[in-house]
Amino acid sequence: MRGSTSGGKPVISAWDISQYYYCKRKLYFLKVLGVPAPARRKMERGREVDEAEGKLMARRKTLYGFERGEIAEVIEGLYLFDEELGLEGEVDQTVILKSGEVIPVDVKYTDISTIQKHYKKQLTAYAILLDKQFNTNVRRAVVRFAKQRKSVHTPITWRDKKTLMAELQNIRSLINNETIPKPASPRKCGYCEVRKYCEAYK
Ligand code: SF4
Repeated sequence: MRGSTSGGKPVISAWDISQYYYCKRKLYFLKVLGVPAPARRKMERGREVDEAEGKLMARRKTLYGFERGEIAEVIEGLYLFDEELGLEGEVDQTVILKSGEVIPVDVKYTDISTIQKHYKKQLTAYAILLDKQFNTNVRRAVVRFAKQRKSVHTPITWRDKKTLMAELQNIRSLINNETIPKPASPRKCGYCEVRKYCEAYK
Protein backbone atom coordinates (compact mmCIF):
# COMPACT_ATOMS: atom_id res chain seq x y z
CA MET A 1 0.00 0.00 0.00
CA ARG A 2 1.69 3.17 -1.11
CA GLY A 3 -1.08 5.71 -1.33
CA SER A 4 -1.24 8.33 -4.05
CA THR A 5 1.51 9.07 -6.55
CA SER A 6 2.77 12.13 -8.39
CA GLY A 7 4.57 11.55 -11.70
CA GLY A 8 4.94 7.86 -10.77
CA LYS A 9 6.53 8.55 -7.40
CA PRO A 10 4.75 8.09 -4.06
CA VAL A 11 3.40 11.31 -2.59
CA ILE A 12 4.99 11.97 0.79
CA SER A 13 3.04 13.96 3.36
CA ALA A 14 4.47 16.20 6.07
CA TRP A 15 2.92 13.80 8.57
CA ASP A 16 4.74 10.83 6.88
CA ILE A 17 7.95 12.78 7.33
CA SER A 18 7.26 13.19 11.03
CA GLN A 19 6.68 9.43 11.36
CA TYR A 20 9.87 8.65 9.40
CA TYR A 21 11.98 10.74 11.74
CA TYR A 22 10.28 9.27 14.77
CA CYS A 23 10.96 5.70 13.58
CA LYS A 24 11.60 4.48 10.02
CA ARG A 25 10.01 1.18 10.90
CA LYS A 26 6.80 2.96 11.90
CA LEU A 27 6.54 4.61 8.49
CA TYR A 28 7.06 1.19 6.92
CA PHE A 29 4.02 -0.20 8.77
CA LEU A 30 1.89 2.80 7.90
CA LYS A 31 2.94 3.35 4.32
CA VAL A 32 4.03 -0.06 3.01
CA LEU A 33 1.87 -2.49 4.98
CA GLY A 34 -1.11 -0.14 5.18
CA VAL A 35 -1.57 -0.32 8.94
CA PRO A 36 -4.37 2.19 9.73
CA ALA A 37 -3.03 5.62 10.70
CA PRO A 38 -3.57 6.45 14.36
CA ALA A 39 -6.79 8.38 14.91
CA ARG A 40 -5.62 9.75 18.24
CA ARG A 41 -4.25 13.00 16.90
CA LYS A 42 -7.53 14.17 15.38
CA MET A 43 -9.59 13.11 18.36
CA GLU A 44 -7.34 14.88 20.79
CA ARG A 45 -7.02 17.95 18.69
CA GLY A 46 -10.77 18.20 18.34
CA ARG A 47 -11.38 17.79 22.02
CA GLU A 48 -8.61 19.95 23.35
CA VAL A 49 -8.25 22.73 20.83
CA ASP A 50 -11.55 23.23 19.09
CA GLU A 51 -13.64 23.12 22.24
CA ALA A 52 -11.68 24.57 25.14
CA GLU A 53 -8.68 26.38 23.81
CA GLY A 54 -10.41 27.68 20.71
CA LYS A 55 -12.79 29.74 22.87
CA LEU A 56 -10.00 30.90 25.14
CA MET A 57 -7.78 31.99 22.26
CA ALA A 58 -10.53 34.09 20.73
CA ARG A 59 -10.38 36.33 23.82
CA ARG A 60 -6.60 36.69 23.97
CA LYS A 61 -4.69 39.78 22.94
CA THR A 62 -1.96 37.61 21.46
CA LEU A 63 -2.09 34.56 19.26
CA TYR A 64 0.82 32.08 19.28
CA GLY A 65 3.02 34.84 20.71
CA PHE A 66 2.04 37.45 18.12
CA GLU A 67 0.18 40.63 18.95
CA ARG A 68 -3.25 40.63 17.32
CA GLY A 69 -2.40 43.94 15.68
CA GLU A 70 0.56 42.30 13.89
CA ILE A 71 -1.59 39.66 12.24
CA ALA A 72 -3.14 40.15 8.82
CA GLU A 73 -4.77 36.74 8.49
CA VAL A 74 -4.95 33.27 10.01
CA ILE A 75 -5.78 30.43 7.63
CA GLU A 76 -7.21 27.28 9.20
CA GLY A 77 -6.39 23.83 7.81
CA LEU A 78 -4.56 24.89 4.66
CA TYR A 79 -3.95 21.92 2.33
CA LEU A 80 -0.86 22.23 0.15
CA PHE A 81 0.50 19.99 -2.59
CA ASP A 82 3.66 20.35 -4.65
CA GLU A 83 3.67 18.14 -7.72
CA GLU A 84 7.34 18.60 -8.50
CA LEU A 85 8.44 17.42 -5.05
CA GLY A 86 5.60 14.93 -4.62
CA LEU A 87 5.01 16.52 -1.23
CA GLU A 88 1.76 17.40 0.51
CA GLY A 89 0.58 18.62 3.89
CA GLU A 90 -2.23 20.29 5.76
CA VAL A 91 -1.06 23.08 8.01
CA ASP A 92 -3.17 23.40 11.17
CA GLN A 93 -2.94 27.19 11.15
CA THR A 94 -1.07 29.53 8.84
CA VAL A 95 -0.40 32.94 10.34
CA ILE A 96 0.23 35.78 7.90
CA LEU A 97 1.65 38.89 9.52
CA LYS A 98 1.06 42.38 8.21
CA SER A 99 4.80 42.47 7.43
CA GLY A 100 4.12 39.69 4.90
CA GLU A 101 5.83 36.97 6.95
CA VAL A 102 4.18 33.56 6.70
CA ILE A 103 4.37 31.23 9.73
CA PRO A 104 3.07 27.66 9.97
CA VAL A 105 1.58 26.51 13.28
CA ASP A 106 1.24 22.84 14.17
CA VAL A 107 -0.93 21.83 17.12
CA LYS A 108 0.28 18.94 19.26
CA TYR A 109 -1.40 17.13 22.08
CA THR A 110 1.42 15.53 24.01
CA ASP A 111 2.79 15.32 27.53
CA ILE A 112 6.21 16.56 26.42
CA SER A 113 6.03 20.23 25.45
CA THR A 114 9.36 20.59 23.67
CA ILE A 115 10.01 20.58 19.95
CA GLN A 116 11.38 17.17 19.06
CA LYS A 117 13.31 16.39 15.91
CA HIS A 118 10.35 14.82 14.08
CA TYR A 119 8.14 17.84 14.86
CA LYS A 120 10.78 20.14 13.42
CA LYS A 121 10.98 18.07 10.24
CA GLN A 122 7.20 18.23 9.83
CA LEU A 123 7.31 22.01 10.25
CA THR A 124 10.14 22.21 7.72
CA ALA A 125 7.97 20.34 5.20
CA TYR A 126 5.20 22.89 5.78
CA ALA A 127 7.72 25.70 5.32
CA ILE A 128 8.83 24.26 1.96
CA LEU A 129 5.22 23.99 0.80
CA LEU A 130 4.32 27.48 2.03
CA ASP A 131 7.39 28.96 0.32
CA LYS A 132 6.03 27.73 -2.99
CA GLN A 133 2.41 28.61 -2.28
CA PHE A 134 3.12 32.20 -1.23
CA ASN A 135 6.39 32.75 -3.11
CA THR A 136 8.05 33.56 0.18
CA ASN A 137 10.77 32.35 2.52
CA VAL A 138 9.37 30.90 5.74
CA ARG A 139 11.95 31.52 8.45
CA ARG A 140 10.19 30.31 11.59
CA ALA A 141 7.39 28.07 12.74
CA VAL A 142 5.34 27.48 15.87
CA VAL A 143 4.27 24.38 17.73
CA ARG A 144 1.19 24.92 19.85
CA PHE A 145 1.18 22.43 22.73
CA ALA A 146 -2.54 22.39 23.37
CA LYS A 147 -2.48 20.49 26.65
CA GLN A 148 0.01 22.90 28.23
CA ARG A 149 -1.45 25.94 26.40
CA LYS A 150 2.04 26.87 25.32
CA SER A 151 3.40 28.11 21.99
CA VAL A 152 7.02 27.38 21.11
CA HIS A 153 8.72 29.14 18.20
CA THR A 154 11.53 27.54 16.21
CA PRO A 155 13.68 28.90 13.38
CA ILE A 156 13.57 27.20 9.97
CA THR A 157 16.70 27.75 7.90
CA TRP A 158 17.46 27.19 4.23
CA ARG A 159 19.75 24.37 5.37
CA ASP A 160 16.84 22.70 7.20
CA LYS A 161 14.85 22.85 3.96
CA LYS A 162 17.71 21.62 1.79
CA THR A 163 18.45 18.70 4.12
CA LEU A 164 14.82 17.62 4.15
CA MET A 165 14.44 17.86 0.37
CA ALA A 166 17.51 15.63 -0.04
CA GLU A 167 16.00 13.13 2.42
CA LEU A 168 12.77 12.79 0.43
CA GLN A 169 14.53 10.37 -1.90
CA ASN A 170 15.52 8.14 1.04
CA ILE A 171 11.95 8.16 2.31
CA ARG A 172 10.75 7.05 -1.13
CA SER A 173 13.41 4.34 -1.22
CA LEU A 174 12.13 3.00 2.10
CA ILE A 175 8.62 2.80 0.64
CA ASN A 176 9.71 1.32 -2.69
CA ASN A 177 12.24 -1.20 -1.41
CA GLU A 178 9.81 -2.77 1.06
CA THR A 179 12.67 -3.85 3.31
CA ILE A 180 11.61 -3.61 6.93
CA PRO A 181 13.82 -1.12 8.77
CA LYS A 182 15.46 -1.84 12.11
CA PRO A 183 13.53 -0.96 15.29
CA ALA A 184 13.99 2.45 16.87
CA SER A 185 15.30 3.04 20.34
CA PRO A 186 12.99 1.11 22.76
CA ARG A 187 12.16 4.32 24.65
CA LYS A 188 10.08 5.39 21.65
CA CYS A 189 8.04 2.19 21.47
CA GLY A 190 5.91 2.93 24.53
CA TYR A 191 4.30 5.86 22.69
CA CYS A 192 3.98 4.09 19.34
CA GLU A 193 0.52 3.46 17.89
CA VAL A 194 1.69 0.58 15.65
CA ARG A 195 3.53 -1.27 18.40
CA LYS A 196 1.33 -4.37 18.29
CA TYR A 197 2.05 -4.84 14.57
CA CYS A 198 5.74 -4.21 15.11
CA GLU A 199 6.02 -6.75 17.90
CA ALA A 200 4.52 -9.40 15.65
CA TYR A 201 7.55 -8.98 13.35
CA LYS A 202 10.19 -9.41 16.07
S1 SF4 B 1 7.14 -0.15 18.22
FE1 SF4 B 1 9.12 0.93 18.32
S2 SF4 B 1 10.39 0.01 16.70
FE2 SF4 B 1 8.26 -0.58 16.33
S3 SF4 B 1 7.50 0.94 14.87
FE3 SF4 B 1 6.98 1.67 16.90
S4 SF4 B 1 8.67 2.98 17.56
FE4 SF4 B 1 9.37 1.78 15.81
